Amino acid sequence: MSLAIELAYLIASILFVLGIKMLNKTQSARKGNRISALGMFIAILATMVQIDAISLVEIFACIVLGSAIGLYYANKVEMTKMPEMVAIFNGFGGLASFSVALSDYFLRTDVNMESIELVTVISIIVSVFIGGLTFTGSLVAYLKLNGNISGSPITFKGQHPINLILFLGFLTAAVFTVIDQTDPILIIVLIAIALVLGILTVIPIGGADMPVVISLLNSYSGMAACATGFILNNNVLIVAGSLVGASGIILTQIMCKAMNRSLINVLLGGFGQTVNETQGDGPSISVKEIGVEETAMLFDGVSSVIVVPGYGMAVAQAQHVIRELMEQCEKRNIDFKFAIHPVAGRMPGHMNVLLAEANISYDKLIEMESINDEFPNTDLVLIVGANDVVNPAARNNPQSPIYGMPILNADKARTVIVSKRSMGKGYAGVENELFGYPNCLMLFGDAKQTITKIVSEMKEM
Ligand code: NAP
Repeated sequence: MSLAIELAYLIASILFVLGIKMLNKTQSARKGNRISALGMFIAILATMVQIDAISLVEIFACIVLGSAIGLYYANKVEMTKMPEMVAIFNGFGGLASFSVALSDYFLRTDVNMESIELVTVISIIVSVFIGGLTFTGSLVAYLKLNGNISGSPITFKGQHPINLILFLGFLTAAVFTVIDQTDPILIIVLIAIALVLGILTVIPIGGADMPVVISLLNSYSGMAACATGFILNNNVLIVAGSLVGASGIILTQIMCKAMNRSLINVLLGGFGQTVNETQGDGPSISVKEIGVEETAMLFDGVSSVIVVPGYGMAVAQAQHVIRELMEQCEKRNIDFKFAIHPVAGRMPGHMNVLLAEANISYDKLIEMESINDEFPNTDLVLIVGANDVVNPAARNNPQSPIYGMPILNADKARTVIVSKRSMGKGYAGVENELFGYPNCLMLFGDAKQTITKIVSEMKEM
């Protein structure tokens, strides 16, 4: 029996790895998701047959209840609210590992007063620490994104030294727990410090920086699950936890690189403030405006178009009308593509998901490195609610907070039209010199409304 279970776990682990590999490409991502889900199904079945502490009826009741709640929220959530949902799910992942570690600890110390194996006690401590920190940190992230608590960085004097003291306190209590495993006071101290540290490390981070923190917390939830796998001696949990932990860290690093931040900066917290502090109003830029009729006429006369989507497209929910614009252009044999910046929007893959939701084929979405050389030969670039990801200051201005961030070379196209509501700044809070360039025209208004008008103009031409 145990050989069959280990074999099932091995198959599940292979399916997880294959599934993650397939998430690498948008074309195979759906299949990858299904393969990973199959792996999880096999892992759950293999685990269920071993359980004797609770009945199958109880397990099924929990599965049905959990699935119903998950299904309800997944259907209800708006795309712009996805980061909150991921935050709270990470938190529950951390809470699950934290609870399993504690119940295992109390079970062992209650039933069997002799000492716990060293590797198990260390795994319990690690799981309590990372799981507890992930739970409260994710709750704070959720509340910040939801607007229930201030989205701006909450800082106070001595914040980092306090965090350090708490961390050292945790380490000391951990050492004493290894020596005397049955002292309940020590485990209470460990629990309290982990929960408080989760709150203290996330509150100094600004609301708009939350996606990076969420990706990091996601990685933490994987590490906590991995530690719990060691406690339960469950190989598939160790593998799945490591995969989540490692992929979360890689994603965090990709996001930091694309935003020109260091991972250490993120780990220390408080990095949301630097951007806000360095911003200045700077010289105001004089811009040229364009209306919807002229824009429609411009579209009618070009042979190549690149659309650069950004956070404003998500706010306006303009993706469906952009697909209609694409159809109008393709009717006119215009070469039509999308340029995707890795941190456009507010979460990784934000633009890809929205455009896929509007049934825009994946092969139209071209990543930054591949499309950047095409801009100089492009007749028209339409920027829809993007700002920082096309700001040439990232290339030209060493004083700018976004200097060094790789950007889309939209400014190099023959004509650039920017669809946004006003001269409002983007997430980094800096002026965009592109708006004042001679080849740039501003199309003011909500992206969905203005592009809808352009499409109707084009339909009438
Ligand atoms: P952005 O720089 O935040 O700019 C978005 C622009 O959209 C704003 O300037 C705003 O201008 C416009 N906008 C808002 N609502 C609109 C509407 N209804 N219609 C038309 N325009 C609208 O966006 P981005 O270029 O996508 O850059 C993303 C930024 O977020 C980067 O700085 C990135 O580092 C950061 N970030 C990304 C992630 C991620 O994972 N993707 C995570 C964290 C942070 P108006 O107010 O004038 O309309």
